[in-house]
Amino acid sequence: MIPTNMNRGGGGTPLAVYAIKNRDEFIRKESRSGGVFPAIANWIISKNGAVYGCVTDSDFRAVHIRVDSKSNVHRFSGSKYVQSDLGDVCREVQSDLLNDKYVLFSGTSCQIAGLKAFLHKVNCDMSKLYTVDIVCHGVPSPRIWEEYIRYIEETYKSNVEHADFRNKRDFGWADHVESFRLKNGKCINTSSYTALFYRHFTLRPACHQCPYKSTQRISDISLADFWGVNKVIRLFNDNKGVSAVLINSENGKSVFEMIKDNLIWKEVGIENCMQTALRVPFAPNKERNNFWNQYYLKGFSAALFSVENVKKDYLIHNLLPKKIYLLIKKFTLRNKM
Ligand SMILES: Cc1cc2nc3c(=O)[nH]c(=O)nc-3n(C[C@H](O)[C@H](O)[C@H](O)COP(=O)(O)OP(=O)(O)OC[C@H]3O[C@@H](n4cnc5c(N)ncnc54)[C@H](O)[C@@H]3O)c2cc1C
Ligand code: SF4
Repeated sequence: MIPTNMNRGGGGTPLAVYAIKNRDEFIRKESRSGGVFPAIANWIISKNGAVYGCVTDSDFRAVHIRVDSKSNVHRFSGSKYVQSDLGDVCREVQSDLLNDKYVLFSGTSCQIAGLKAFLHKVNCDMSKLYTVDIVCHGVPSPRIWEEYIRYIEETYKSNVEHADFRNKRDFGWADHVESFRLKNGKCINTSSYTALFYRHFTLRPACHQCPYKSTQRISDISLADFWGVNKVIRLFNDNKGVSAVLINSENGKSVFEMIKDNLIWKEVGIENCMQTALRVPFAPNKERNNFWNQYYLKGFSAALFSVENVKKDYLIHNLLPKKIYLLIKKFTLRNKM
């Protein structure tokens, strides 16, 4: 864990909390929630700075990269529900800071803690470092994501050309459907990987003991989905994505002042956007060991189909026409929004 004096957020309560939508509809469509991260990234780049965050590479692996032009910021958009490989980015951040550049680093709280611990150890001046963390449910093992892609390819007998962890464009912000475009032209929509994720079969063991599930944050700004926003601000939600943004430090405050004209925002209380991921780590599924035993003994698809929701999901997405699915979801997801 990181020394507590490095948590610039201090205290247990953010300095301010906002419900936010990016004014640019295209950015919001591409982003996971309200599209706040691209606004921050573009501001850092306009100061000739460098931005670090998570993208998917050509093999669909989640990796952290450095970007210093606005035309590449879109690569960070969207949540990749798998542990990201940091590679050598901590040293790259150090090098940028040594060259007196502004740096924006985004990732999970533990990645930010790790980066700060590294920079502290090498005695690097952090005054030009800005950090943004995603309020984090937990990250699945990259091995399972890799297996899942292979499973899709074998089941549908074609290679995956494009993978979307959460297809907001077709299914809206509140739903969670994975989409794959295959080389043979087919599009596959499913929620089986999602079921493993939310039912806590595949999160990293460390995530079940996460020390960052709190309103005391490690970063300057924390980003989350603002579930239930319509109960706080009438008609704010259009199912295209709203972020809950926690401003945790004076640096975070100054960033918000610089970008706020690009955003539709309203200040709220932290109690309005509380969620489990800001309170306590999630417990592993009682059947987690069974899932992994099945995986090691019989392989991935046997383990996958040992999970009850996966069987249901398989039937729903394979038998139900997309239009009917969307209609059902429209009614069932209404309360969440
Ligand atoms: C693994 C994971 C778990 C999440 N759990 C929750 C949750 O419990 N509650 C909740 O409200 N929201 C959760 N989110 C979503 C998160 O709130 C949104 O990513 C955030 O609101 C940013 O939205 P945006 O529209 O501003 O950014 P976008 O434009 O979508 O930018 C995405 C940002 O997320 C970062 N990112 C994407 N994938 C990863 C990854 N695998 N590892 C590290 N950084 C990544 C990128 O670097 C970028 O900064 C989760 C996201 C991920 C990736
Ligand atoms: S849940 Fe905690 S330990 Fe797991 S990735 Fe998120 S911040 Fe890191």
